[in-house]
Amino acid sequence: MTSSPSVVWLRDDLRVADNPALVAAVDRGEPVVVLVVLDDETPGIRPLGGAARWWLHHSLVALDGALRELGAGLTLRRGPAAEVLPAVVAEVGAGAVYWNRRYGKVPRDTDAALKTALRDEGLVAESFQANLLFEPWTVQTGQGQPFKVFTPFWRACLDRPEPRHPLDAPDAVRPPEAPPASDDLDAWQLLPTSPDWAAGLRETWTPGEAAALDALEEFATGHLADYGERDFPAQEATSRMSPRLRFGEVSPFQIWHRMRGDLPPASRERAQSFLREVVWREFNHTILFSSPDLATVSYRPEFEAFPWADVPESEIDAWRQGRTGVPLVDAGMRQLWTTGWMHNRVRMVTASFLIKNLLVDWRVGEQWFWDTLVDADEANNPANWQWTAGSGADAAPYFRVFNPVLQGEKFDKERNYVRAWVPEIDTDDYPEPMVDLKESRRRALDAYETMRRASPASP
Ligand code: FAD
Repeated sequence: MTSSPSVVWLRDDLRVADNPALVAAVDRGEPVVVLVVLDDETPGIRPLGGAARWWLHHSLVALDGALRELGAGLTLRRGPAAEVLPAVVAEVGAGAVYWNRRYGKVPRDTDAALKTALRDEGLVAESFQANLLFEPWTVQTGQGQPFKVFTPFWRACLDRPEPRHPLDAPDAVRPPEAPPASDDLDAWQLLPTSPDWAAGLRETWTPGEAAALDALEEFATGHLADYGERDFPAQEATSRMSPRLRFGEVSPFQIWHRMRGDLPPASRERAQSFLREVVWREFNHTILFSSPDLATVSYRPEFEAFPWADVPESEIDAWRQGRTGVPLVDAGMRQLWTTGWMHNRVRMVTASFLIKNLLVDWRVGEQWFWDTLVDADEANNPANWQWTAGSGADAAPYFRVFNPVLQGEKFDKERNYVRAWVPEIDTDDYPEPMVDLKESRRRALDAYETMRRASPASP
């Protein structure tokens, strides 16, 4: 009898453990093809930024290694998913296709159309919950609407049944006798060459599932105890799980149950505040689900009339490159450029500086973070930019303008963070602030008033 292989199409779930689509394929008993598609072409899809492409390359190397140990390597293909997936299915004569769900509009529409087309041809096509603990349609207000405010969302999540336990990795993955051809990963050119700006990323990170699980364990038994200090950027008090979650090297189910498991006594009370942050990611995906244009359109429509300033590109470059003359802002922007990651408190301060002190449209900053963050995420990045801009769901009110100097005094009192990234801080080489903080704050508040007057619906 000829076999009808199963195809597992992996996307934001680059792991072998707790992977329901992979488990379903293995359980079907037929040979398994594990496919990853680099799709920069589907209309409306948002191609990954540079830092995320770097991460993807290394995460795929690690995943291919882990799968080979189980018996079957990865199959890599490039192109629009709606064409590539059916082509692979036809090539191998597949009888079933499995994947884990994604929540952006274009990906969802692509997946839904593929599922229908595959089923119409008599194939099994199944999708699974793997990357969110609480899928957007399962947590709603009493009126059946999506939550717009985080705290009631969080409470509603806690009222839901406990998220399921993580699944084990399969013992083996049997490939077809004649596996399909795979692209050469290097030919995808995900790594920067000239210039090679990734030295700091290489020093900072080891992408891949094994390193992700090690990092989670290390955090659970180590710095979780310091999570109360998470607002202090010089402290190593946060998990740095964000790129791991972004690429699905670790699942939120694994994180949730690790936090519910055996922890050092000093960490137990911190676990809940850590999970609360993890659930902000879930909240932002819920927002993305109901507002698919989150990266391009203000969630609060009155902000579409905001009178942004016409700022010269050279000034925006000073922000991008960490040359604003405001120490905490410059430190953050340099940490981002060098490592592909920035501490959350400093993300808020740098974003606020761009939006409020320079009066630059939040979309400009969102795009820069999209290109430079290893954790750049379709839900978390725009939602947090809009949160800072005041235009988002449950956002900081626009008129609450961070003072980046006071933020530094409060959260980096010893200046250890600033000195690490801006060593010239105490010398004559360090410039004066590029804007007067008081004056630019007043200008921002005036602009906000102008918007409010233009829109009677605004608060
Ligand atoms: P921890 O404090 O250890 O938190 C654990 C996990 O919870 C994180 O890995 C993340 O998945 C989630 N989380 C924590 N804070 C937030 C938050 N505010 N919103 C949503 N999820 C959160 N996070 C991203 O994952 N991708 C982005 O593209 C992104 N862009 C941001 C842009 C701006 C302007 C701001 C202010 C924040 C952004 N964040 C983004 C949120 C947050 O800064 C990072 O998730 C966090 O710094 C990651 O570090 P960590 O894993 O050590 O966090």
